[in-house]
Amino acid sequence: EPVSDRLTVSGLDAWYGTAHVLFGLDLTVEGGRTLAVLGRNGAGKTTLLRSIARGMVTTTGEVRHGSHRLDRMRPDQAARSGVQLVPEDRRILTSLSVEENLLLGHRACGGREKRSVAEMVEMFPLLENLLSRRGFALSGGEQQLVAIARAMMASPTLLLLDEPSEGLAPRIVQEVGEGLRAIKERYAVTVVLAEQNVNFAMQNVDDVCVIDDGRIAFQGGGAEFQARPEIRDRYLKV
Ligand code: ATP
Repeated sequence: EPVSDRLTVSGLDAWYGTAHVLFGLDLTVEGGRTLAVLGRNGAGKTTLLRSIARGMVTTTGEVRHGSHRLDRMRPDQAARSGVQLVPEDRRILTSLSVEENLLLGHRACGGREKRSVAEMVEMFPLLENLLSRRGFALSGGEQQLVAIARAMMASPTLLLLDEPSEGLAPRIVQEVGEGLRAIKERYAVTVVLAEQNVNFAMQNVDDVCVIDDGRIAFQGGGAEFQARPEIRDRYLKV
């Protein structure tokens, strides 16, 4: 059984300039588990992921991943230490082929063993026929698969996914979900997944946290979340 490291966020505050958007977040994800971060538009989900990966936001408080103090790192250092963020806009390089995009993931390997393109094709079979295609010719769903696979090429120990199901056709949402489950089975990786699609989240995670207006409104197991529909009604209904 693969073993992976716990993520602990303590007393996290976050700002964009003078705009204060996260307030005293405390959060734990046990190594190897998958946490869904749910919340309405603007609740602070993306900001939490950026705070962990150290990009584009100012924070105070602690972010620990295993023995690493992520809050003391720059984004490139966090990446080399094993943190990979797949952003909402995916950032596929349009003039490169899918295979070239995947190989870019190796740049963040740090000292960890590199993963191969063939391993990624095993997890996401749809990639097989896309390897020579240029980024600009991919559908949104294909881009999402490539972005997740590229992150996995860096052998991450902590994978952060920002709204992986957003805007995707149902068939490809299923493929993304299957790929995630394959990743979990095969590799020691802790996953944090920001989502608006509660059903997709519930099919693919162990634990749930709900953010409302920059504060944690709920944290618990998936079953506990499902058993308390009032949480969904209060914090997630538009
Ligand atoms: P979404 O689903 O829209 O991405 P979210 O839950 O991920 O929502 P965040 O993107 O984390 O929310 O935004 C949290 C708050 O921070 C919002 O009020 C948003 O307007 C604000 N915000 C986000 N990015 C910036 C930025 N670059 N500069 C200033 N404020 C920002």
